[in-house]
Parts: sequence; structure tokens; C-alpha cells
Amino acid sequence: MAIIFILMAIKELKLDEIVDQLAKKYPHDKDRIYQAFELIQERHRDQKRASGEPYVSHLLNVAKILADLNMDSTTVVAGLLHDILEDTETSFEEIESLFGREVAEIVEGVTKIGKIRFRNFKEAQAENFRKLIIATANDIRVVIVKLADRLHNMRTLSHLRREKRLRIAEETLSIYAPIAHRLGIWEIKRDLEDLSFRHLYPKEFEKVRKFVSQSLEDLEAYLKKFVIPKVREVLKEAGIDAEISYRPKHLYSLWQKTIRKNINLEDVHDILGVRIVVDSLQECYVVLGLIHNVFKPVPGKFKDYISLPKPNLYQSLHTTVMADKGKLVEFQIRTREMHLRAEKGIAAHWAYKEGTGKADKPEVFSWLRSLVENIQGSRNPGELLDHIKRELFSEEVFVFTPAGDLLVLPSGATPVDFAYHIHTEVGNHCVGAKVNGRIVPLNYRLRSGDQVEIITSTQKKPNPQWLKFVVTSKAKSGIKQYIKKLERERFLNEGRRIIERIRENLHLTHNELMEKLREKVRFKDEEELYLALGSGRLSASRLMGVLTQKKKVRRIPSHSKGSGVVSLGDLDSVMYEVAGCCRPVPGDEVYGVVRSGRGIVIHEKGCANLRYLRENFPEKVFKVRWSPQGRFRTRIRVHVKDRIGILSDITRKIADNDSNIWESYTKASAEGKAVMDFTIDVIDKSHLRKVIKAIRDVEGVRSCSRVYT
Ligand code: MN
Repeated sequence: MAIIFILMAIKELKLDEIVDQLAKKYPHDKDRIYQAFELIQERHRDQKRASGEPYVSHLLNVAKILADLNMDSTTVVAGLLHDILEDTETSFEEIESLFGREVAEIVEGVTKIGKIRFRNFKEAQAENFRKLIIATANDIRVVIVKLADRLHNMRTLSHLRREKRLRIAEETLSIYAPIAHRLGIWEIKRDLEDLSFRHLYPKEFEKVRKFVSQSLEDLEAYLKKFVIPKVREVLKEAGIDAEISYRPKHLYSLWQKTIRKNINLEDVHDILGVRIVVDSLQECYVVLGLIHNVFKPVPGKFKDYISLPKPNLYQSLHTTVMADKGKLVEFQIRTREMHLRAEKGIAAHWAYKEGTGKADKPEVFSWLRSLVENIQGSRNPGELLDHIKRELFSEEVFVFTPAGDLLVLPSGATPVDFAYHIHTEVGNHCVGAKVNGRIVPLNYRLRSGDQVEIITSTQKKPNPQWLKFVVTSKAKSGIKQYIKKLERERFLNEGRRIIERIRENLHLTHNELMEKLREKVRFKDEEELYLALGSGRLSASRLMGVLTQKKKVRRIPSHSKGSGVVSLGDLDSVMYEVAGCCRPVPGDEVYGVVRSGRGIVIHEKGCANLRYLRENFPEKVFKVRWSPQGRFRTRIRVHVKDRIGILSDITRKIADNDSNIWESYTKASAEGKAVMDFTIDVIDKSHLRKVIKAIRDVEGVRSCSRVYT
């Protein structure tokens, strides 16, 4: 029984033989394959691999790996051409015109990924790089070509000098092998891991390799004598047609297991797993039952990845049993389809259908979709779907600093978000941005793979308009903080100016004025006074009045701590106006809008103008507690069925309810209807409600309500 080691020298085929094999495998597309072969021979003719071989050998081997994965011929052609944009004077357009748009786009995608510089392989960053690669590729076939490229480079790594070898091996182990794993392409994952293992940890690799080759012979003999015959027998009795095979665990995973479980190689029991491939899902479970009948299952070692697939959609039943002589043997039971998927993962989707004469034309991810549909009945389809989405349809963008560092931002992020992410000062002074060397507007939406350079100027200050497009909280709070600071400075200056004017009017020195003020007004320091004056919370005329008369301002109204609600109450020192648009009355929920130097305007919560102000100048709007005494004018609108005397009936009702009419306007329409607007005065909201209710009772009134704008 031949157990083929993946690391055994792979029989070198002559280049022409490889092309012929490819053409034979894809007869419907052999013209494109030969044409691509001719083109790469011409364009790469002066290039050699580090091994001294012609460069074309790399390209053919990559194409062969793709063909062995049963990828469609478009991917195989793209595999032949995958280095042509980067390494030769060939344009996207030329590839497109010769081989079609799909091939050109795959090649372009591979070229893009090739330009990503991985700067460190620490776990967190590595995960981001993996996501970046998947996000960069519009078509998952780009990633598969890249994996094939990497696999062949790993196979020929020995020709490179040591440092480069280690860097590539490390990158492979932390970035590319996990991607292969995620896409379920077991064949590639296994080879990438073992090849990296060999270069990164040569001593350990050698130890594991030796151990496996020594124990395999015994293990194989044991399986052949005690296990396989029994299994065959029970399967035959049950009338189940199955393929039984076994192969060793790959070396890297064995080594990982000894580390993870802190055990010796001798204690790893599943070096050789027995695989049983059957025709149907039901048979998987039947076989499981039969095996558990023959051998004693080890408790806790049964895993049903059929009803609960792994995140990479791997499906199989796993069980470990105790066979003769107390040896542990692991079984993997699966259908042919599951087996194909386990070996080739996402690549199984492109599996070339022989005899159809047509290439399978895949829609990206439709494989995932159909698979997800198939497992809808499983226990956690939602979770699985979510996982796939998170993994493959990332909601993040991955961008680079000019130094090549990778930053992760939420999708929709702009250069301003990027700038604030780097540093608040960079954000505060950014004037422009270059993306991939080209100037872009500051509201440009960054895309994965973009390299972003921020242009700053010490003169530049944040623009409140940026708040309309930034998406990160860091940028938002940075801009808002700056606006607040700016506002504060403006208020201080305005306050100083007002004090100076008062001082001139009263012919006092600054110190004399302050002394006088302190007798009448309580304030912590001059700054507080300036801010109150500048913001309009304290009006200049009020202050003049206080200084020239005997009246006393109890204290400067201030932002009450905690609630964020400014209490205007009955403090007459506050300069405020009631907004003409919505005309709030006491009892309404109201907001104050600061108009610098001119006090506060109070709007009712539902007012359309207020909504506009809140959206555009959030820093100027704050909640206000407002409960003044007096009478307040507001507006109501009454829809009526017109009849003689209705206007006088309504006005009487208003008067009867202790309200005055300041203005009224009636507009009659056709069909005997009319609209009447009144400006009336009321004490507060409940008074207004009472008036409205009374009007509604008037005969012929269809509706009566308050008018806000
Ligand atoms: Mn390559």
C-alpha cells in the first residue's frame, strides 16, 4: 500500500506535457490554453526562477494545481497568466481582448493581492490581512489562484536565501494556510502548512517526519490485519458500497497536537485515520452504528460535523474507537460530495463537468449559498450564515498608511476618519488626502487596499461640515471638541468686548468695574463672566441695568450639572426669545438654541426649524427647563364647515375660556369649507388644551389643532 508523502519529490513533467494535460482536461477551451501558453512563453522569455528554470515553469505548475482542484478553465487560463501584468509589459486591455474580461479581472486581482505588503504576522494583524485578501478579491477565484501561486512558490522555496525563505514561510503559515482552511481547501492548506513547517522549524519537522515514517509501517500493518477486514465485512453484510482508505495526519497538525495537548508523539493515536466514503447521508449514520457495534467507541470522541458543519462548511462524522490490542483508531465517515468538498472546499464549486463541453460558469459565492440552503435544517443555520457573512463579506475596509501599516476602519470611512484614527492632531489639521497617489476629496469613501496619505497644514482647522460624512466616533468627537473650543474662544472674546464697552460707558477702570460687578453679581472668575456675556446667557443691557440701578442679579444662569438641561426658569437675567415659528408655551418640551451674542431662542420640540438646527448645529442646541409666568401667544388652526355665525361662536368660546385673540385669518374654500387661523394668548400648555377642546365642541368645527410653523 503506497502512502504518498506530499513532500516526496513530485515527478517533474516537461512543460509541453503539462500544457497537453491541461488541454486534454479542458478540451472545450484548449485554444485559450495553448494561446495563453504561447503568450507567456513570449512575454516571460527572458525571466528565470531562482532555481534557474524558465519562469514559465512556475506559471504552468500553478495552472496545474488549479486544474487538479478541478477549477474551471477560465481560472486555469488566469493561472497561466497570473504574473503577466506585474512582470511584463502587458496591459489589462490586451489580456481582456485576447482572453476575455473574466480572465483579465482574475489576473488583475491576483496582481493587486501581490502588492499587499504584510508587515507583521502577529495574530490580530494576520487576521486583518486574511480579511483584506478576501475583501480585495471581487471574485473568490482570485484568492484560489493566489493560493495555487503560493503553493508552488512554497514547493520551490529551497532555492531562495534563508531570510527570504523564512519570511515567506511565516507569511504562508499565518496568512495563506488559514485562508485555505477558511475556504475549506484542505489539499492546499495541508501542503502549505507542512512546507512552512519544514522551513520554519526544521529540527521539529525532521523529528515528526522520522517518527511518522517509522510508525507508519506498524500502523499500516495493524490496520490491514485487525481493522479494515472487520469493517469490510460488516459493510458487506449491510449491503453498503463504500470506499475505505487511510492516510496519515499531516505533519504540522501532528506537531500542533503534541503542543496543544502537551503530549509526546507516541501518545498521538490518530496518526492514521480511516476514511469511509459512502453514497448517501443516511448511510453515513448506518456505517457509524456498524462501527460502534464492532469496536468500542471512546466516550466524548464522537463528533457530528454533518448536522453541525464546521465554519468552513466541512462535513463528516468523526469517531474514535478502541480496536484490537487496545489501540485507538479514528474513523471519518462522509458522502462522496462531502469528501470532495472536504478536499477541495470552495474550489469544489468550480468542479469541471466532464462531457458537457462547457465550462461551469460560477456565480461567486453561489456555492456557499446553495450549501447554506442545504443545511437550513441543521441546528444552527443562522449562526453559520452569520459566520460566513462576517468572514467573507466584511463590513470593514482595510487600508494602508504610507509606511505600509494596515488600518481597519468601518466601511464608509473617509480620509478624515483615517486622519483622526492616526491622531487627533492629524485630523484637526488635515487639508486633503491622496489615495493610491491621487488627490481625492475628503469625503471619498475608502476601499479595501487603498493606500492613504493625509496632507496636513498647521493653518487648517476642522470643518463642521465634516460631521456630515465621517463615520468613526473618533473623528466625530474630535471635530465636535474642536468646534466647542472654537465657540468658547468666540464667547470669551465677545464677552471681553462687551465688558470693555460697559467700562467705557461708565468711565471706570477695569478693576473698578470688576469690583463694582462683584458687589452685584456672583461669579467665580472673569472668564465665567465673559462666557456668560458672550454666549448671551447674560445680556449686556441686563448687566448695565444692574450696575446703574439698585437691582441685583442673583447669579449667572449656568448649565446645571449632570442633566445637561439649562434651567432658564424665571431668571429674568437671561436674554431669550420665544421662537416665532413654533411659539412655545410653558409646559411644552422646549429646546434653547444659542445665537452667539444675541441670547437664546426657545423652540418647541416638534418644530421643523429646531429639527434642522439640531441636525446641523448640534453643539448649539440644548434642552431647556422653562417655566415663566405670564401670557404667551401661540397659533391654532380650525377647519370648519362654513355656516353663518361660526366665527363669532368660535371667538366667544375663546373668550369664555380666558384667552385673547390677537390675530385671526379666515380663508374660505369651495364646497362650503373654511380654514381659520388664530393667534391667541394662553398661560400654559394645559390652558391651550382647554381652549382647543372648547373650540372642537363648536357645531361645524371639523378639527382644531396647534400650528407649529
Ligand atoms: Mn506567481
